[in-house]
Amino acid sequence: MTAPLLSIQDIGVRFGGIVALDGINIDVEPGAIHAIIGPNGAGKSTLINVVTGIYTAGQGSVTFAGQTLNRLKPHDICRLGIARTFQNTELFGEMTALENVMIGAHRSGGYGPFVAATHGFGFAAAESRMRAEAMDLLELVGIAEDAAMLAGALPFGKQRRLELARALATRPRMLLLDEPAAGLRAAEIEALNNILLDLRARRGLTILLIDHVMALVLKISDRVTVLNFGRKIAEGLPAEVRANPDVIKAYLGE
Ligand code: ADP
Ligand code: MG
Repeated sequence: MTAPLLSIQDIGVRFGGIVALDGINIDVEPGAIHAIIGPNGAGKSTLINVVTGIYTAGQGSVTFAGQTLNRLKPHDICRLGIARTFQNTELFGEMTALENVMIGAHRSGGYGPFVAATHGFGFAAAESRMRAEAMDLLELVGIAEDAAMLAGALPFGKQRRLELARALATRPRMLLLDEPAAGLRAAEIEALNNILLDLRARRGLTILLIDHVMALVLKISDRVTVLNFGRKIAEGLPAEVRANPDVIKAYLGE
């Protein structure tokens, strides 16, 4: 077995009297599309918020590529190569699609070619390089023709794609996607699935994919973890998880 890229170990989170996560262990293999599913309130978003440093866990630890993330700030975790999207899109509505992606690149702390460009060729060249790279990402998610549109004016499905492009602008090794399919139509979900498969194939990205509806993620996931009321109730191959009586019960109770 290869070493996991992301390892979540015994994570516990409480909000007052609510136990949002109760001793969660999840290993994500490099190059995997790993889904976390579970009914509303199961703790899925809380888990992403712990991994990305927005929440501090009361218990347990998270390691990424062998490095402990505990106590790191969100921007440091981003710089290590973890990018995310939010359950509710958080775009800058008054800026263009292209500008939103360029801001994503700045957020990564400007490393790699961005830094090289800034130092070697001056600001204008760096800017045009970033612009070109941002355009490539819009192309990749299929909204290049909307580059000059204000983000707030885009239809919902395109805003979701834009968020994905912005996350990719940080040049992550790993993507955490919080319910990216929520509110999308079947055809849009199909397109999103293809983009994710393509990203994994062409860029070697590891993807942690959260959804509360089972059917959507099972198609493209290698492995699935199921949470319910802050506990892990099942884990395995999509077919195994789908047939698990505890999982079926958790979803019927929703
Ligand atoms: P999911 O994403 O699976 O729907 P969440 O992680 O959002 O679930 O929430 C898990 C539980 O933690 C819920 O009971 C929710 O109300 C609670 N919770 C999440 N975030 C907070 C917060 N910031 N303050 C208080 N309670 C929270
Ligand atoms: Mg959530």
